[in-house]
Amino acid sequence: HVAARNFLHALSLRLRQDNKLITEGMQKQLIFSEKAQTDSLTGLRNRHWLEEKLPEVLREQDVGYPPCSVVMMDIDHFKQFNDQYGHLAGDTVLQNVASVVRDNLRENDAAIRYGGEELILVLPDTNTHNAEQIAQRLRKFIREHKVEAYDGEVLPAVTVSIGVYTIARGDSPEQVLSRVDAALYQAKKAGRDQVVVWTES
Ligand code: GH3
Ligand code: MG
Ligand code: MG
Repeated sequence: HVAARNFLHALSLRLRQDNKLITEGMQKQLIFSEKAQTDSLTGLRNRHWLEEKLPEVLREQDVGYPPCSVVMMDIDHFKQFNDQYGHLAGDTVLQNVASVVRDNLRENDAAIRYGGEELILVLPDTNTHNAEQIAQRLRKFIREHKVEAYDGEVLPAVTVSIGVYTIARGDSPEQVLSRVDAALYQAKKAGRDQVVVWTES
């Protein structure tokens, strides 16, 4: 029947159109969720991403995945740097620290901007010894990496203090974060520009 054929034709056009809309919608959704999990200044993952990811990492540890270490890094005396060179110069420094970190991580490592000038790295398949080496290497790269400001002025390099903690079975996200933070605090207290591995005190 002509009428039936016309009807089917109209229906198939309609379906194709709906499919297109759905696909576009899914793409938008994807871009949206990617943005919601990315820090706009540095392009690193944001805190929200870590909050979703960390419980997953802990579950993996509980079922016997290889060791996973967490690194927390904080720029030293950054308030003073901003005061002296301006907030825009500070932003450039932050972006540079982020790119040094990004350029030196492996594909499965994650770098997160956790707070203002604080980064967290999640390093799967990395024991304490290896994590400490990675942290030391990053620390050295960062302190040697001079940065050019937007106006061409060469800014002095900054230093970072770093805490390292290797996740133990049964850890909660809060435990992991508080331990790596405690190690970072020790690094600050010991004079900054150094790496401290968490130990039971
Ligand atoms: P410490 O060595 O103890 O870490 O000293 P600090 O001065 O780095 O630490 P404090 O917590 O006193 O100050 C952090 C500074 O980081 C102050 C804040 O203006 C700066 N900061 C945080 N986020 C940003 C940012 O997005 N851009 C810039 N330019 N500065 C930022
Ligand atoms: Mg700081
Ligand atoms: Mg800080």
